[in-house]
Formats: sequence, C-alpha cells, structure tokens
Amino acid sequence: MKAVVYEAFSAPPQIRQVPDPTPEAHGVVVKVMATGVCRSDWHGWMGHDPDIALPHVPGHELAGIVEAVGKDVQKWRVGDRVTVPFVGGCGTCPECYSGNHQVCDSQFQPGFTHWGSFAQYVAIHQADINLVALPETLDFATAASLGCRFVTSFRAVVDQGKASAGQWVAVHGCGGVGLSAIMIANAVGANVVAIDISQEKLRLARELGAIATVNAAEVANVPEAVIEVTRGGAHVSLDALGHPITCFNSISNLRKRGKHVQVGLMLAENSTPAIPMSKVIAHELEILGSHGMQAYRYGAMLDMVQTGKLTPEKLVGQRINLEQSIEALMAMDRFQGVGVTVVTEF
Ligand SMILES: [Zn+2]
Ligand SMILES: [Zn+2]
Repeated sequence: MKAVVYEAFSAPPQIRQVPDPTPEAHGVVVKVMATGVCRSDWHGWMGHDPDIALPHVPGHELAGIVEAVGKDVQKWRVGDRVTVPFVGGCGTCPECYSGNHQVCDSQFQPGFTHWGSFAQYVAIHQADINLVALPETLDFATAASLGCRFVTSFRAVVDQGKASAGQWVAVHGCGGVGLSAIMIANAVGANVVAIDISQEKLRLARELGAIATVNAAEVANVPEAVIEVTRGGAHVSLDALGHPITCFNSISNLRKRGKHVQVGLMLAENSTPAIPMSKVIAHELEILGSHGMQAYRYGAMLDMVQTGKLTPEKLVGQRINLEQSIEALMAMDRFQGVGVTVVTEF
C-alpha cells in the first residue's frame, strides 16, 4: 500500500510503498477513505511523543470501510462504514472496566503507538470495543473530522465541563478544537464567549454560535474582558489552544466554583504552565483535562449530528490528497488554516 512515512523526527516525510497491514485476531483493517491533519501529528513528527517508534506513519483522525476482520471479532463485517476515537482501549484494564477507555492503561493510538491513517489501509486493534459505526448520512470527510478535536471538545464541554443551558462558556482559541467546542456548547444551551487574536476566526466563531467575542490582541486584560461580558466570570472555560497564556487566562476568567477544561495539548517547553493556584483555592475552581472520548459515547454525539443540532461538516476545510498531506503536516504548527484539513484521495 501507499503510505506517508518518516524515518527521522522533523525530517520531511515521504510517500512509500509498504506492506499491507493484516488484522490482529481481535482487530480489523480499515480502508482509509478520509483522514484529518492535526497538530498532534505535527507534535509526533517533531519527536514530542515518546510512544512513536521509527519509521512511522502518522494519522489518527480516520474514517473508512472495514476491509479485513480478525477471527475473534464479533460485531464487525467487511464493508462496514466506521470511524474510531484517537485513543482505543484495551478492554481489560481497570480504566476500561470503569468505562474510561479514553485513559486506558494500555492505549492503542493509530498514528502514535502504531502506524496510522496517512495510508491506504490502517490496522485497528480491539475492534469490538473501539470501532464506531457511521450513519449512512454522514460522509467520510466529516466523520474523519470528528475523531480527535470534535470528540475531545464534546467530552470537554458535555462530560467534563458539564456545561448546561444558561451557563457561560468561554473558549480560548478558535482553531478546530475551539470552533468545535463553541458549536457544542451552543447546542447544549450555554452562552458562549470566544477568544482569539484573529478577526477571521472570531467571525467564524460567531457563525457557529458564539454570542460574544474577545479579541485578545485588542484588550489589555483578557480575563477581565471575559468577566465583564459574562457578568462575573465563566461557569466553564476551555483552553482550546494549548498555550501557557490561554491556559492562565482560562482559569483566571472563571467565576467561583467554575471549571477549567484543558483541551489544547501542552507539550515540550509548554508542558508546565503557570496556574493562578491561589484563585483555584479561594474560589474552589476545578481544573480538568479532556483526552478524547470513548467509542460508546459517540452515539449521543452522532444523534445530535443526525438531528442537525451539531453540524461538524461546517468545520471541514480544505480537502487534499495523500501527497499534499506531507506539506500540510509540516505546516501544522503555523495555525493559518481555518477548519480541519482532510485527506480524501489516496
Ligand atoms: Zn484499557
Ligand atoms: Zn487530532
């Protein structure tokens, strides 16, 4: 099969012919029909992820068709249309037994712990636990765009932040993660304040449901601006970018007993940001993480997609081919894209 391969961190990946994958007894092979390009792929390529062994094939936001099925798989057949969360569970550790596959002790992550979906085929482990059936009405590019940023935002807003109707939700950073969170928070009835330094992204944030915006480049103090708009602070606030400044602002703009959810990745030199801990204590704030979402929780989200309450197709940006994915991956840290870039030609 054709695949994007890199043999050294931060050296340009190349298109290669590599052997086709075969399914594990508990796994499947999926013919990749679409795969999103994500900043996590860039982090992996830069060498920030200790799980990656070289040579490596990136790609973790995939949708496709089951091509081959392992002998122990019960629920899936050749031809099924599927997607997967970017964290797959093992099914047999204490976290998986408690229903928290997203923090499994023995995670399967295509594009990180194993070869990923910047390729014509990808092998997926523990298929009965980790595959998600796609509704016929959901196209592959949109399904691929859900796999990482959208589901992580869904878990951040709904399961971790528990945002509810009438609450104020602040979203710092309006890239793929932030725009997803804005759409989801709006859909559950929260009032959303979007924060970014790009006027264009703030305009998109309003289109997706933000009722107020703060341009961080134009105000002297971002937390104060958010506290003013929200008349006392956000109930739930997300750092959707993953930067020490947005993290600090997101915690600082909470009202008493508010929840900060860290969604944007904090790696390398950003991994130990400053936290206003005196405020965390005095205001009884909560600091939470969001790390993907279990396959079994996709049903709630997909129902909201099918009923039109969530419209992730609006977040799909450029569609490119596998050759173009190399340049897109290497440029991923420069933030210039609006919407999720998806590879749809292999
Ligand atoms: Zn597990
Ligand atoms: Zn991703």
